[in-house]
Amino acid sequence: MAERVIPLVDQRLTALRAAVPDRPVAATGLLADTLGRPLRDLRISVTDRCNFRCSYCMPKEVFDKDYRYLPHASLLSFEEITRLARQFLAHGVRKIRLTGGEPLLRKNIEILVAQLRELRTVEGTPPELTLTTNGSLLARKAKALKEAGLQRVTVSLDGLDDAVFRRMNDVDFPVAEVLEGIAAAREAGLGPVKVNMVVKRGTNDHEILPMARHFRGSGIVLRFIEYMDVGATNGWRMDEVMPSSEVRERIASEFPLVQLDPSAPGETAERWGYADGEGEVGFISSVTQAFCGDCNRARLSTEGKLYLCLFASNGYDLRELLRGNASDEELASAIGHIWQGRGDRYSELRGSLPADASTGRRRVEMSYIGG
Ligand code: SF4
Repeated sequence: MAERVIPLVDQRLTALRAAVPDRPVAATGLLADTLGRPLRDLRISVTDRCNFRCSYCMPKEVFDKDYRYLPHASLLSFEEITRLARQFLAHGVRKIRLTGGEPLLRKNIEILVAQLRELRTVEGTPPELTLTTNGSLLARKAKALKEAGLQRVTVSLDGLDDAVFRRMNDVDFPVAEVLEGIAAAREAGLGPVKVNMVVKRGTNDHEILPMARHFRGSGIVLRFIEYMDVGATNGWRMDEVMPSSEVRERIASEFPLVQLDPSAPGETAERWGYADGEGEVGFISSVTQAFCGDCNRARLSTEGKLYLCLFASNGYDLRELLRGNASDEELASAIGHIWQGRGDRYSELRGSLPADASTGRRRVEMSYIGG
């Protein structure tokens, strides 16, 4: 059994200062970082709470009954989130993804969706508005989310076998209710629905083919995610990673696959179609096939910290500026300045980096900034 690492430092309590630069960075929609990557995709965490305890993200031993969640007053309000999102759109963001923790635990989230729906990209079009959920509350919320303006959902589902699924979420939650949520999302028109399965060798890899059989021909896009060394608490080991190439071989042994072109620059999933036309599957291979080269994603924590990479150790405190009466221009300039200085490419460097234990580096928890 992998040894769990209990974090000594609570990432939520540390932040880098988000300064307004002396030379303003205007919002032109053409912003690029030090590697020439534009800012196109904003992931907004709306809560640090979750009702699941998936061991690769929020292990029960760490996030136990004594775990203290962030006080509500420290969370950005919907108005603050919308105001910040407007600045990111002015810098070129086209897509907004709501995440958590579990975003559907945030009360009245439909109100935030409706506010974000009113925003415009630099092209004057509404941003693409999506949400990632564990599906536990989706059956109840799908219709209202659609009516508020949400376009699509991605549902995390790590197996079809009820016993396996209950073990993976570690709160004994039944798989049937998540499948009901997926059906409700489709019925409400929140599609095409995507389903993400994290594959952990020796834990749920025997569910790969049952999942492929179940979603093939359904119009739902199933994506397999390599188990990642996110955060500092999941006890990650390389021998528990099943490379996407191996997952693909397993599927192709029953259903021949053909590679498809990416649907958008910076897309994280490699797309493959069933040769017989029965839909597609995706592979998100952050460990064995890094995709930092065109990573155009920024992440906003639920308290307004800007993270430039899923594996970052620290974020820039935009809330201080927000609540410190900065103007929209100053907010946009600070965001632009931060992005211009970005050089993150953790997955590309993973193998060559010194061990965290030796550097004292602590990666931020995925449950805090969203996947
Ligand atoms: S490791 Fe960081 S830079 Fe690379 S793709 Fe992931 S989020 Fe982007």
